[in-house]
Amino acid sequence: MTRIAAGGISIECATFSPLLSELSDFRVLRGDEQLARYPFVSALDGIDFAPFLHANAVPGGVVRRSAYEALKGEFLDGLAAGAPWDGVYLDMHGAMAVEGIDDAEADFISAARALVGPDCLISASYDLHGNLTAAIMEQLDLISAYRTAPHEDALETRERALRLLLRCLRTGRRPHKAFIRIPLLLSGERSMTLIEPGRSVYASIPQLIDGDAVLDASLLVGFTWADQARSQAAAVALGWDEAATHSAARTLAGAYWDARQDFDFGVPTGEVDDCISMALAADESTVFLSDSGDNITAGAAGDNPYVLERMLAHSVPRSLVTGISDAAAVAACFEAGPGAQLSLSLGGKLDPVHGQPLAVSGSVKRLHDSPDSGRQVILSVDNIDVILSERRLAYTSLVKFSQLGIDLLTYKIVCLKLGYLVPDFQRIAPLAIMALSPGAVHALPENLPFHKLRRPIYPFDRDMSWSP
Ligand SMILES: [Zn+2]
Repeated sequence: MTRIAAGGISIECATFSPLLSELSDFRVLRGDEQLARYPFVSALDGIDFAPFLHANAVPGGVVRRSAYEALKGEFLDGLAAGAPWDGVYLDMHGAMAVEGIDDAEADFISAARALVGPDCLISASYDLHGNLTAAIMEQLDLISAYRTAPHEDALETRERALRLLLRCLRTGRRPHKAFIRIPLLLSGERSMTLIEPGRSVYASIPQLIDGDAVLDASLLVGFTWADQARSQAAAVALGWDEAATHSAARTLAGAYWDARQDFDFGVPTGEVDDCISMALAADESTVFLSDSGDNITAGAAGDNPYVLERMLAHSVPRSLVTGISDAAAVAACFEAGPGAQLSLSLGGKLDPVHGQPLAVSGSVKRLHDSPDSGRQVILSVDNIDVILSERRLAYTSLVKFSQLGIDLLTYKIVCLKLGYLVPDFQRIAPLAIMALSPGAVHALPENLPFHKLRRPIYPFDRDMSWSP
């Protein structure tokens, strides 16, 4: 039996948000609770797969140091207790920041390496929005990243990283690694794989892999909203043939770099007021409007009521604003009860740097309490149904709305605290518009106050030249 330890921490941290990610923000799975993340393991022969801790959080601000140390400590205890291992599989995101530790994945992976020693093989799976560094790549033997954004291949990527590990363990060889940092940092919204040129660049990856000389290749676009020296794109290749492996990484890095000026949002964008006017003028019966500066799935607090304020000012017809996180407002609505009229100060509490509270009067239309998502309220303010959530909640699936009795297609404007639309909404949205709204994850990161980025880097330094 090949003994594989598994575990990891998965979070994406926007360093411009003043909100810290706490231990309570992580969903921690232990032992068999994790098996649903790895259903493919049951089809693998001769493997003793031991997942002992996986911690996953909604993207947020920097992780509180004590929370990180607690999770890391528990992971390392599990790793030590089961040693020796043949291999370790790390289930990571790749854009974690911790108070006092910018390259948090390097810290975590190095600690695992120190414990299992230099001979044990370590493989990791990453989100393509992870930021890689030489310190990380020195500790890892294998890595594979998502090839789709919006993400639809998380499971496939975990399986690929684990199968690569098994293959190397069974041949008893360590592959060559090629790692190229690319001085390019595009937001996720400008580097989707559904549209060109992202689609073609990512479609070229399988062609670089020949199953022998080159075992795998990954292109990481990186995570934009972290003011760190490591925020940058990277190309990686793994293989038995050193020259072919380096050539594959160079080809991939070059393809991404050469296409840099063609990446775009793929949907109409503009300032908030212009986007609302555009939505109102649209023939489509429903328009999905992304409040991208307060995108919870990129780590923003999700409590900026600015777009709501502007929609009220435009006297929009029947519309929906989803997911303003405000525990105090939710508590007040629960206390007042269904049908009650009340005045509230909404939002601007979690991230007072980027949003101001908004005074509104409305009626409580619906109260909802679920064990998964906590308490939520639908508050009607003029023509707008506003969903308030007790916890930061990313509304990324239709189920979250059906639980609240909401049919999105009955509204003229559906405002979401997202950037690009996730697959559930891509499928049904008659029209999508992205507001370049203010916030900790502004969709044009060039507008944010970066200090630590390695320069030059495109598009911050537009005229720079580079070759892989
Ligand atoms: Zn991602």
